[in-house]
This record gives sequence, structure tokens and C-alpha cells, in this order.
Amino acid sequence: MPATDPRTLIVTGASRGIGAAVARLAARDGWRVAVNFARDAAAANAVVAAIRAAGGTAEAIQGDVAREADILALFVEAERRLGPLGGLVNNAGITGGFARVEALTAEALSAVLALNVAGAVLCAREAVRRLSTRHGGPGGAIVNISSLAARTGGSGEWVHYAATKGAVDTFTIGLAREVAAEGVRVNAVAPGLIETDLHAANGAPDRPQRMAAGIPMQRAGTPDEVAAGVVWLLSPAASYTTGTILEIGGGR
Ligand code: NAP
Repeated sequence: MPATDPRTLIVTGASRGIGAAVARLAARDGWRVAVNFARDAAAANAVVAAIRAAGGTAEAIQGDVAREADILALFVEAERRLGPLGGLVNNAGITGGFARVEALTAEALSAVLALNVAGAVLCAREAVRRLSTRHGGPGGAIVNISSLAARTGGSGEWVHYAATKGAVDTFTIGLAREVAAEGVRVNAVAPGLIETDLHAANGAPDRPQRMAAGIPMQRAGTPDEVAAGVVWLLSPAASYTTGTILEIGGGR
């Protein structure tokens, strides 16, 4: 039988990178973690195995969070296997690839909007329906993974991606105020340049090293450095923090 305290955390896109680091650190902080992934079951299972080896509780759950039907199934399955929801980390995201705006295709734009914006909003909707005291829920916390690109604009690389993260920031502020009196805190973490597979997936594995000199701290960050901020925002230590966008970017 799953436990009945609301300590189940769904982390979308948790098979690698920032999501995997959040899943591991949140499990150490006492969360039972639903490790969502889209394609790479082996990587998600490895994250779950590492959490269990460290004494934590986790389940790998497949689901494309750009699709509403998969999102609905993810929330049902997470609560069935792990118990009542207490938190959500909207982490899954893609860039849509490098392209100046005049070279952007409608297909790439649709894909990045469907995951980074619509997917995050629909996941938050499912979380609020379960967490808000307005619906008889226990309260809880949502953290959206934005990007410093929302502020810098991504010019010459991926303005379309940066714009989706601007939407995430605005959504964070608005939803935070909407549910603030209902026991639900909503915050965002905006990472700067972080060493993950995201850069290689866009054909630029050396991007973190190449851009490091332009960062005040002269280096890219690690997924664990981002996860520390996310897990703090999820925790009772951040009990008076909502509608905040926490930048973790080495001073960029
Ligand atoms: P990553 O290494 O490319 O990992 C992406 C994760 O998302 C993978 O676990 C992938 O799982 C999953 N995913 C992709 N599409 C999905 C979908 N449709 N449904 C469910 N899961 C899906 O990315 P990352 O660098 O860790 O980035 C994580 C978040 O941080 C993103 O929102 C990104 O925009 C943001 N961010 C990253 C950086 C950076 O420099 N890395 C900077 C600022 C913000 P599968 O492999 O199974 O598909």
C-alpha cells in the first residue's frame, strides 16, 4: 500500500540532466519521486535504481508531457504507485533547435510550445486540482524550470525557446497569486548555462565550454547546483516564498 502522506513528487523529464538531479536530491529530502521520461526507459530506470540504492522511494513512469492524455495518465499512475501528490517539478523541455527567427519552421515552433508551455501549464493544472485546498487538497508546491534565456532573449540561437521560457515565468507569477491562499506555492528556477545532454542534442556538445568565458563565474553550472534550488523551493524552508523566479546562473 502506498503511504498516505502527501509526499509524492512528480518530476517531468527526469531520466537525465537537471530532472534526474532533482529526482535524486528530492528523494534524499524525503519525497517519493515519480521519475517521468518520454523515450529513454533505461536511463529513467537507472535514476530509480540510484534513488532506491540510497534508501529512497521512486518509480519510473513513461509519458510524453506534450500530450494531454499522457499527462492525465502520469498523474493517475504516480498517485496509484506512490500515494497522494504533494509536489510537481515541471522540468521537461526542448529548445526546438538552433535557428534564427527567419529560418524557424512551424513544426519546430509547435513542438517547443506544446512541451515547454502547454505541457507545463496542463501539468500544473493537474497538480492544482489535487493540491489546492479549494478542491479539498492538502496544499503543496510547484516548481517550473524556466531559463535565463527568458531574460537574455536567446538572440542568434533560439529566440523561440527563450520566448517559451518567458511564458513559463509569467505563468509562474500568475498561478502563484491565483492559488496563494489555497496552500499551493508556485515558483520557478531559471538556470543559466548547465552541463547536460541538451547541448549535444542540439549538435553543440562543446557549447558549455565555449560560452564559459562569458559567464561571470567563468564556468557552466552542474545539474546538482540547479537541483539544490529546486528542492529548497519545494521544502517547508521556503514556506513564505511564492511567485519567485530563482536565477541559478553563475552571475550571468
Ligand atoms: P536534457 O538533458 O535534454 O533532458 C531532457 C529530459 O526531458 C530528458 O529526461 C527527456 O527524457 C525529457 N523529455 C524530453 N521531451 C519530453 C517529453 N515530451 N515528455 C517527457 N519528458 C521529455 O535537458 P536539461 O538540460 O536537463 O533541461 C531540463 C530543463 O532545464 C528544460 O526545461 C530546459 O529548458 C531547462 N534549462 C536547461 C539549461 C541547460 O543549459 N541545460 C539551461 C536553462 C534551462 P527522454 O530522454 O526519455 O526523452
